[in-house]
Amino acid sequence: MRILVLIAIGLLLYVIIGRLLRASRPSSPKAITEKMVKCKHCGLHVLEQEAIQKGDNHYCSTEHLEADS
Ligand SMILES: [Zn+2]
Repeated sequence: MRILVLIAIGLLLYVIIGRLLRASRPSSPKAITEKMVKCKHCGLHVLEQEAIQKGDNHYCSTEHLEADS
């Protein structure tokens, strides 16, 4: 019956280690979602941080910003 004890211990360790890993892991490591915005001129989707913003509008490049204004 020793094998059953070993299995029980193994399962217990598995559960404990699983909980420890879950606890140490941040709930949402990528909380900062990369928001996509649409270029008003050509409709291309670009990252908000890379887009050129003018008022409420976003552009993929300075060329499109100038072309639209
Ligand atoms: Zn564009």
